[in-house]
Amino acid sequence: MNELELLEEADALARRYVAGVATQPVFPDAQALEALSAFAEPLPDEGNGALDTVQMLDRLGSPATVVSNGPNYFGFVIGATLPAAAAAERMVGAWDQCASSYDNAPVADVLEKQAGAWLLEILDLPRESAVAFGTSATACGLSVLAAARATLLARQGWDYSEQGLIGAPEIKVMVPATVHVTVRKALQILGFGWANVVKLPVDGEGRVIPDQMPEMDDRTILVLQAGEVNTGEFDRFADIIPRAKAAGAWVHVDGAFGLWARASALKGLTDGVEGADSWTTDGHKWLNTPYDGAMAICRDPQALARVMNADAAYSTASADSQKNLTVEFSRRARGIPIWAALRALGRKGVAAMVEKHHAQAVQVGEGLRAAGFEVLNRVVLNQVLVRGRDDAATAAILQQAQGSGQVWFGGTVWQGRPAFRISLSSFRTEQENVDRLINLLRQIGPDGAAQR
Ligand SMILES: *Cc1c(COP(=O)(O)O)cnc(C)c1O
Repeated sequence: MNELELLEEADALARRYVAGVATQPVFPDAQALEALSAFAEPLPDEGNGALDTVQMLDRLGSPATVVSNGPNYFGFVIGATLPAAAAAERMVGAWDQCASSYDNAPVADVLEKQAGAWLLEILDLPRESAVAFGTSATACGLSVLAAARATLLARQGWDYSEQGLIGAPEIKVMVPATVHVTVRKALQILGFGWANVVKLPVDGEGRVIPDQMPEMDDRTILVLQAGEVNTGEFDRFADIIPRAKAAGAWVHVDGAFGLWARASALKGLTDGVEGADSWTTDGHKWLNTPYDGAMAICRDPQALARVMNADAAYSTASADSQKNLTVEFSRRARGIPIWAALRALGRKGVAAMVEKHHAQAVQVGEGLRAAGFEVLNRVVLNQVLVRGRDDAATAAILQQAQGSGQVWFGGTVWQGRPAFRISLSSFRTEQENVDRLINLLRQIGPDGAAQR
């Protein structure tokens, strides 16, 4: 079998997989998981060949997938992959560009710049901002938080890249008490020390309480959230950001999924967010593009370019080259599937997807409330935070729903007690899937009775 026939075979297997995402168990059953042990082969001396390898991948791998690319997966705001993005991803793979700069990969550089400009437009953020396509909101957060610190230090006359941290003026970081764990991770990697980070008190929706914030100054990095991971709520940007900016602070907004509200009729939820200094958001969550595709957006392009520069004698490029804005040096053209999604959907298509998921979340919230479940949030976005009659019931409901193979969503802890979290974020999810989810939970019931 030659290369082209092999690619056709792989494509046929991929097509068959995608055709089955509505009917395959949403979480792999015990048998499929057991079969994964067949991958534990000795490293072959003689290769098994490409065809046998890709067939094994499908035979053992496909049944063991979590079908987050289907319509019945409601965990973690994961999103599926839009057809345009999946198809563009195939081209990106075939092209195999090292998308570090124009000189290395002109087509990638042009398309990622185009995608960046469209992103600033559709998210209505300052058009002069740098857009860096990193692997994740985690990695993008790491790079803009590094830029934030270096910039505040530069204003104090300290060159972070040259002098490092020993003896540097102290930079204080403030985060919502509900901040996402990956922001915590980034701060820890950057050496801020979690114990030194100020955790801001939040209200019952997980939002920072503006009048309980300590004084900020020109050595403060303030992190706010567009889309709290449990409730989908937004900090009060219009109130908080102008105060922070007046004090000279750097404001970073973690908008991994919630920033996409800005591309829809829900934009009002984000009022004032455009006043921040930096933002992170994912393509691979709500925009329904493939992993790993995320964006670091930085109002002052130089601030990001200064900390992320990776020019060498054999490899110099402009400050807005992706290798000079992201953690990666060699990188795939991860902005291209994002470009494809934006081009294929257009403004209206993106808005329709976000608004559809919000309407579905509202419906799920109302349906579950009517069935006797406790819905813990206001459902302003695409997240529904739910509890059963008591903690044991919540655990039993989660176990039965996850074990059903019909749907999947995850558990969490909200205000010290177990809850579960239903995210509407797959472009494939339609009314029948929402009905099926509500019906299944209605059958299980708020006391998880079926198994107790
Ligand atoms: C998922 C998420 C992140 C991390 O994003 P990754 O792309 O998975 O690194 C950060 N913040 C929030 C609110 C998230 O939901």
